[in-house]
Amino acid sequence: MVERESTGPSVFTRILRGEIPGEIVLQTDDVFVLKDIAPKAPVHLLVVPKTDAYRDVTELAEGDPKLLARMVEVATAAAAQAGHQDFRLIFNRGLGAGQTVFHVHAHLLAGELDEASMTAGMADAGRDT
Ligand code: 5GP
Repeated sequence: MVERESTGPSVFTRILRGEIPGEIVLQTDDVFVLKDIAPKAPVHLLVVPKTDAYRDVTELAEGDPKLLARMVEVATAAAAQAGHQDFRLIFNRGLGAGQTVFHVHAHLLAGELDEASMTAGMADAGRDT
């Protein structure tokens, strides 16, 4: 399901607030990391800024590039915590790319990665194949 801006706080904000269940595995003062509900790889985490001011990675890069760098830093720590030095970091930007939650986040994938993990987060209904 695609989240619209009119639906209020994003699903990630609601998890952070404890309003709905979610497995947060790491957090700092500005970024948190949770397990994806529909994992596409042995390790599939979502790296999310606590602020919901940025809908996607383009807005974040323009508005707060330091926070984007912090996301990479926290992703590296989360991967290490999961036992991985190497990982894939994916941002879906826009509906056409499969973005469904408009609160900027990165998919952190590690473990045995295959082509399926390249489509992390893409809703099946929105795909051509
Ligand atoms: P996007 O498609 O926007 O790039 O990624 C959104 C991701 O959020 C998807 O991979 C989806 O599985 C995940 N997701 C959606 N709703 C929930 C939820 O309620 N809990 C968790 N943990 N992940 C969710």
